[in-house]
Amino acid sequence: MKSVTKSELFRRLPSVDDVIRRSDLKYLVDAHGQIAVTDAVRMVLTRLREEVSSGLLDDSGLKLALDELSSAINKQLLKSTSYSLRPVINATGVMLHTNLGRAPLTHTALDHIREAAAAYSNLEFDIEAGERGKRDIHVDRLFRKLLAEVGPGSTPMPQSMAKEISTIVVNNNAAAVLLALNTLADGGEVIVSRGELVEIGGSFRIPDVMVKSGAVLHEVGTTNRTRLADYENAMNECTRALLRVHRSNFQITGFTEQPSIGELAELARKKDIPLIEDLGSGALVDLRNFGVSGEPSVLDSLAFGVDVVTYSGDKLLGGPQAGVLSGGAGLIGRMRKNSLFRALRVDKLTYAALEATLLAYVKHDYDAIPTLRMLRLGKEEIGTRTEALARTLLGSKWSIDIVDGESVIGGGAAPSSVLPTRLLVLMRSELSAEELSIRLRSCDPPIIARVEEGRVLLDLRTVFPEQDQTIAAALQSIV
Ligand SMILES: *Cc1c(COP(=O)(O)O)cnc(C)c1O
Repeated sequence: MKSVTKSELFRRLPSVDDVIRRSDLKYLVDAHGQIAVTDAVRMVLTRLREEVSSGLLDDSGLKLALDELSSAINKQLLKSTSYSLRPVINATGVMLHTNLGRAPLTHTALDHIREAAAAYSNLEFDIEAGERGKRDIHVDRLFRKLLAEVGPGSTPMPQSMAKEISTIVVNNNAAAVLLALNTLADGGEVIVSRGELVEIGGSFRIPDVMVKSGAVLHEVGTTNRTRLADYENAMNECTRALLRVHRSNFQITGFTEQPSIGELAELARKKDIPLIEDLGSGALVDLRNFGVSGEPSVLDSLAFGVDVVTYSGDKLLGGPQAGVLSGGAGLIGRMRKNSLFRALRVDKLTYAALEATLLAYVKHDYDAIPTLRMLRLGKEEIGTRTEALARTLLGSKWSIDIVDGESVIGGGAAPSSVLPTRLLVLMRSELSAEELSIRLRSCDPPIIARVEEGRVLLDLRTVFPEQDQTIAAALQSIV
């Protein structure tokens, strides 16, 4: 057989103009316009040229590709005119997966976003008085209600400590920490334990945020042990605040010591210095009721006397991306007046989503919040769904197994807490685990699985029950 040189193959590639003029592409030009089609043609031809150049396309390969040119152009057009941000099925079992958008929203939040955003709203308008209003009042009233409530299992707030709690919202928890530090400690020192100088996934580092806030970090103690006396000895005339940071994504075990939040609060009060706590996940209910231990709630922190608590809206709270600052009305009032607050403010979509999520809490309708619903799913229930999914694969090319495993809360909540689950182990003799996970990701919607020790695992805890069918159909179609 005569082999064709690359330069000959290059000569066979048509020009962009030649392709555009083809009559079988006229319908594409009519539908998408000349500019979009020209772009798509250029991209497809560039790809073919690269494939010839790298030796991926030979004589017959190129012939085939040219025969299917119009369909390739059509595909390219569809790709460039469709959304880049799209839904995926999270079968990893990591509930608050930052890469997968953290908490899914409750339906009422979606409805409320739609109604608040599709038309004008009273975002900053006092309807009764007919004059300018404040955007934060929409959620502050609900936070007040929730944080005044002493839930089962949480520490009752001693009367002497009870103060008016106020809440403001910014873009994310990193912004909340920045705002708190800048407001209370710009130009002064903030004392933090060396065991809490954390980096949270995606470049949130306490020392870096501290620098940006204008405060000076005063480290005390050691990685594994910090005593109350370390804080006390570090205090000087420049000290403006104490900061406690939740060890969101790691644990220190063994020979360790850390004063309790109550002891820190007492020291702060004695010295008349505010205590800030970066709680990270910020549960609004006592998770011990849901079988999760070791995750302090916002209410606990406030009850123990923390002056300002910061937490994320899209972690355990189960709402939109936001950073929440709850604390004494006096301090929160100072943060509201800081010009940074204006720079970090959130839009009406966030307020709408947050308000709807908080209302579900006020109504104790925890099952309406996907995060809390997934958290409460028992291993048996997940097992039943997993078995049903496995049954749809009987007699197919899949070899499957169902094993015990653990789901992860993620998002920096209760790093030591594991949720027992059942896992579907997927195997195909002709595909490696890596290849299999690529196939799953190329489904529509993409299915994101866990790959562990050379096995592909699906954890249905984080899959919405109505998606089980979609997964079953997708698995059938992978041949
Ligand atoms: C997650 C987390 C943050 C960052 O919160 P974002 O909302 O992602 O900005 C900060 N501190 C702690 C302790 C966290 O767990």
